[in-house]
Parts: sequence; structure tokens; C-alpha cells
Amino acid sequence: ADEAPHPPPPWKQNKSAVAVEASSGPLASAAARLSARSRAIPPARDFHFYNNFPSFKSPVAAAAARAESSLGGLGASTLLPKQQQQQPPFPTEDLDDAYDWLVARNDDLLEMFAASADEFKALREKEEAQGRKVAAEKMAGDGFQVVYGKKKKKKMGMGEEGVGRSEAFGSSGSVRMATMDRAAASGPKPKVPFHIPTIPRPQDVHRIVVDNTSKPFDHAFLERSDDGARAIHPLEKLPMEQLFDRRVPESEPLKPPALDDTPFTFVEDRKTLEVLVTKLKSATEFAVDLEHNHYRSFQGLTCLMQISTRTEDFIVDTLKLRNCLGENLREVFQDPTKKKVMHGAGRDIIWLQRDFGIYVCNLFDTGQASRILQMDRNSLEHLLQYFCGVTANKEYQSADWRLRPLPDEMTKYAREDTHYLLYIYDLMRLRLVNESSGDDLLLEVCKRSNEICLQLYEKELLTDSSYLYIHGLKENDLSARQLAVLAGLYKWRDGVARAEDESTGYILPNKTLLEIAKQMPVTTGRLKRTVKSKNKFLEHYLGHVITIIRNAVANANAFESIAEQLKKGRLEELMAAEAKDGSEDTEMIPAVDADSNESNLQLIAEPDVAPTVITNVHTASFCTGNVTSGASLGNLQLDNITPETKSFGALPGATGQADTVIPSNGGGQQQVIKATVQVSKRPTAFGALLGKPSTARRPNLFPGFSSEVKARWRRSSLPWYCLSIISQVVQILQQLAFQ
Ligand code: AMP
Ligand code: MN
Ligand code: ZN
Repeated sequence: ADEAPHPPPPWKQNKSAVAVEASSGPLASAAARLSARSRAIPPARDFHFYNNFPSFKSPVAAAAARAESSLGGLGASTLLPKQQQQQPPFPTEDLDDAYDWLVARNDDLLEMFAASADEFKALREKEEAQGRKVAAEKMAGDGFQVVYGKKKKKKMGMGEEGVGRSEAFGSSGSVRMATMDRAAASGPKPKVPFHIPTIPRPQDVHRIVVDNTSKPFDHAFLERSDDGARAIHPLEKLPMEQLFDRRVPESEPLKPPALDDTPFTFVEDRKTLEVLVTKLKSATEFAVDLEHNHYRSFQGLTCLMQISTRTEDFIVDTLKLRNCLGENLREVFQDPTKKKVMHGAGRDIIWLQRDFGIYVCNLFDTGQASRILQMDRNSLEHLLQYFCGVTANKEYQSADWRLRPLPDEMTKYAREDTHYLLYIYDLMRLRLVNESSGDDLLLEVCKRSNEICLQLYEKELLTDSSYLYIHGLKENDLSARQLAVLAGLYKWRDGVARAEDESTGYILPNKTLLEIAKQMPVTTGRLKRTVKSKNKFLEHYLGHVITIIRNAVANANAFESIAEQLKKGRLEELMAAEAKDGSEDTEMIPAVDADSNESNLQLIAEPDVAPTVITNVHTASFCTGNVTSGASLGNLQLDNITPETKSFGALPGATGQADTVIPSNGGGQQQVIKATVQVSKRPTAFGALLGKPSTARRPNLFPGFSSEVKARWRRSSLPWYCLSIISQVVQILQQLAFQ
């Protein structure tokens, strides 16, 4: 490292040339020498023996000091992004902390590398695509006909589309359809990301301020009961007769024209919204659906509102128009003379109340109707296929609907959710009337729809027992101490999520939360090793989180009886499960990769079940201040988070203890289990830094690096392991540069 590199000649002054140059330069060869020679240094006890002699001690100490300072320089390298340069300096005291530090820096570098590689790949793909397009255009210009991608504009009514494939077999129309279908099926499936991290938070862009405090939701637009205890839904005052309309379509229900032949408006300003309201005022029925995002806000955000009348489709940007939506649309939604047709309205009803203060009267829920009609399946997807012959691309259902401008494909999907709904409503009403013998099926659907409307939104409140509802608790046999840690961290996460206006799953996935509870790490080093992927919130509150865990472990007595109860409950459940074979799981975790935080969004499989809300009102003292969205990590004001604990870095006294064994309070069997976990975890310590599901994309630069080298570090003393680190780091950088 001493030999100052010569300035590279101009032809070498691009980034990759510089990287290649650096990797074969003096630093690399010095490191290689260092690495080779360090093998001659005696390890462990021999080292300490030799270290008694100054002729050994002083050069080794000097080398160690230089290695350390090089590592320090590495951490502050201008190659790293700004925020990473501000990470804590290389810890020299504790072996585990030093190791974790190195892992983290490598993680940073690999992240950067992966991001650059992705960027490069995307650019190249774009260029290639453009190249193809240009070539195709050129060919067309030369007299060739471009066959693919040409849109044949043909008016195709619902009828044709709706005909069963086999029925119309042989007609040119269906052959074309079949070909299209096959092409579509064999083509690459579009990837629809569930979370696009680069989208600016709508809360910031549109100044959406919500009350996330752990206090009951205020239904400000509703009258209250005489004693003031209860909010009264406008539907409660309406007699059923006023809502119920037995009239069924006199003539054959009219199939809506195809999307392309239907006027469409994207509503994103007040003026256009007023036009929409005028149209709804003159309509007697309209179809509604909402798209929602639950991952990047505490309570959830309505992103879009789709509305279809008999002749037009609208999509309202409910993020942009959030603040004026209620005043404009409240009336038509509440108007009992206008039928609102929705599919699986349970959640939509709740979202309308929460985000816009809109309360629905006179609903026809096609989801309820399909149940009463005892159809095979009750999803909108099925109804679209069954009644309209339309195959919806349900992949978009879980898309990140905050995305703007809304891509064409997503617009199409969103429109399809309401476009056919009034027609389905017509067909279902006919069926309900025709199939009624004795009991009035149409009336039954209306009754059930009313019940859905009458539900009132309740905000999720933090109670002393909230943590017991965490998904996955039952599967983990937690001890009293582990439960204590879980309770403490659960409360911490809840506070951060409310203050940041993020979902709890985004702050810290349940899976990770449970893993920390199980491991009970009491040092920052251990915590970092427990949490495999990077988590910015944990990192930000590192010291605070460790304090929570330590306090929980120390005061776990209060959790003994709960642990006991849980064990009993589990036993009973196990026995019940064995009796009833093949239990069904109503909870659904979308198939999002386990990458980072996204694995824990939990939804209820039945689309028309309202979200479960915990109604227990033991308001905890944790989050009492006026915590609103808009708070950022920097100015977070929570009574439990003091400025001292906010910073990174180890707590005083935390270093040097990393190898203290936490006594396990379980029996012998539990210890065996624990040991197994440890063993299977060790070799992936470095794997974890590459080993997210996206591993396949990333080169494995460290075959056998972690376990073997770390074992050697453990056996030897600090200076030797410093030498070892520096040479390893250089090797990594070298390989990175070549990759
Ligand atoms: P839908 O009524 O089908 O349009 O769904 C409304 C909203 O519910 C969507 O915008 C999503 O936020 C959520 N959602 C529905 N189905 C899923 C799913 N399978 N995975 C994730 N989110 C879903
Ligand atoms: Mn819906
Ligand atoms: Zn939808």
C-alpha cells in the first residue's frame, strides 16, 4: 500500500479500467504477499509465546496497526456511497464486531455492485430493444411487412368474446383468439412487482396526513347515538323497502362494449372529478372497485378508485385527489336510490370510510350473490370468465398501485375490475329471481350487502396483548423470556410503524421479529447475525433494540404464565388438528420473495372479509403523543426512544461480551435444538450477505470463505486476524473488479 500508484494514462481513465488496474496494482500484490507470509505466523498459543519476544512482537504489532488503519480507510473510502462512509469505524476491540463490520462493508459493496449490474443490464436491454425496433422499422420501410405487434383493429363485442372456445371452433374469429391465447401463454410472463421501492411516498408527495395514534378512529362524518357512545351509519335509518328493488331487467341484459370502444377518463384533477360527479348524479347505478396498498403505510392507502357507468369507465387517482374526494363523492355513495355494484366489497367499504369518509348505502355485492347462487368459485376472476369470457390477468391484483403514471397494462387491469360488473349484476339478478323458489334470493343478497355496508372501520390499537396475535406465534414454542423479547420488540415496532407511517411488516417482518425473539441476542453483533438481511430500522435503533431485549430477558417473570397457557393451548390445538385432518388456512401470504421485508404482508384469502381489527382498548402508553405521518427517522418523537439510543454503535459494555453464552432456560432437548440451529446457521453467515433469494443473480465470491476463515480467526489472536482480514478484503475487491 506504500507504493503510490502512478496516475493512469488517459485511455485507462474509465471506471472499469481503473478497477482492473487497481486490482492488479501494488495493493493487490502487497496483499497477496501479506496473505502468503501471514501463514508463517504461528497461531493461538504459539503466537502468544512468540509474542513475548520484541523481535517478533514489534513488527507484527506494526503490521497489525497498518492493517487496521487500512481497514479504517476502507470504511471511509470515497468509493462507498456517502451514507456508508458515515458508518461506525472499524471496531478493534471485539472479534465478532469486527467480523460483522467487515460483513456489512462487503454487503454494501455487493449491493452497489448488484445495483450497477442491474442498471447496466437494463440499459443494455433497452438499447437492444430499441435496436430491434429500429431494425424492424427499417425492414418495414424497405417493403417488408412487420407481422408481430400489429394491432388488428376489429370491433369485437362481448358476444364473440363470450362464446365458449369449443362452440365457435372453426370460425375465423375464434381461431384468431386461440392463436392469440397461445401466443400470450407461451410468451414470457410479465413480472409484476408487489413493491417498487423507488416510488416516492405518496404521503410525502401529496401531503397525506393521517392519525396513526393508538386511539379509536373518529368517524367524523357520522352522527352519534344519543349517549354519544356509538357512530350511526346512515343505512341504519333507512328502511329496507327503500333500498330493495325487485325490478329485474325487462329485456336481455346489454353486454358492455369492449374496453377499446368505451370512453375512458383518468380523473386526476378537481375539474374532471366534478364532471364525474355530475355523471354519477344522473346515473341510477354504477360499479365501483378500489386498488389499495398496505405495505408502505401504517393503516393502508387507497391508490385508485375505478368507477364504471353503463357507458363509461373512470379511474380516479385517489392519492392525488384524496383530500377532495369525500366532499365530491359522499353524496352519490350514500344516496339510497343509486345502486352501487361491487365485488367483495368488505374491504372497499372500510377503505372508503377510512380514507375519504364515504359511507355506502344500497350495495349489491356480486361476491355475495355468487355465494347465494352457489357458484363453483366466488372470485371476480371466475365471474369474468364465466359470464363474460374475459380472462383477467390477476397478476396485477397485488401490484404496487402507487405507481404513477399508471402503466397501460395496469390501467387495463383496473378498468376490467369494474367494466363488466354492471352486466354481471344484470345476469345475476335474473338468475337470483329465476332460481328463487320459496325463499327470496335477491332479497338475501341485498340483506347481506347491507350488512357489509354497516361495518365500521376500526383502527388497529396497540394493547398489552397485541403481540399474541402475531402470525407464526403458534408455530414457535416460545419460552417466557422469548415471549418477553417478542412483546418488547412488538411494541417498539408498532411505535416506529405508526410514527413513520409504514406497515409493521415493512419496519420488521414478523418472521424476523420471531427469529430475534427466539435468539434473544443481547449484543449488537449477535443481533446483526440473527437478522440476515439488512434492515435500516433495526440498524438505526440498534442500541435501543438491544436495551429492549436485555430488559425483556431480565424481567421475563411476568411472562411465565402466558408461556404456560400458550403451551397448553398448543397441545389442545395439536390434538384438534389431528382429529380434523387437512385443516384449511384462510390466511394468505402473497408469493413475494423473502427478499428484505416483503415476506410478511398478510392478507385474508377471502376477498370480501373485512380485515381483522383488534378492538381491545387497553391503550398502551407507548404511542400517546400526536404521532402523525410525515415524521421521519430524524425527527421521530417517541417517548421510548431517547436521543442517546438513536445512534448507531454498540452500547457501552456491549463489546467484548459477544461470546458470553446466554443460558438457555429450556431443558436438554431445547438445547439440542438450539445447537442444531446454530450449526446450520454458521456456514451461511457470509451466504446471508449474498444469499437472499436473488442469489442466483449474484456471483458467489466467497466459496468456503466464512466458516473456515472465521474459525481460524477465532483460534488466533487479534493481530493475526487483522492481517487475514485485509488480505481477504483485497481478494474480494480484486474479484469484484474482474466480475
Ligand atoms: P381487488 O378487489 O381484487 O381489485 O383487490 C383490491 C386490492 O386488494 C388490491 O389493490 C390489493 O391491494 C389487494 N389484493 C387483492 N388480492 C391480492 C393478492 N392476491 N395479493 C396481494 N394483494 C391483494
Ligand atoms: Mn375489489
Ligand atoms: Zn380491483
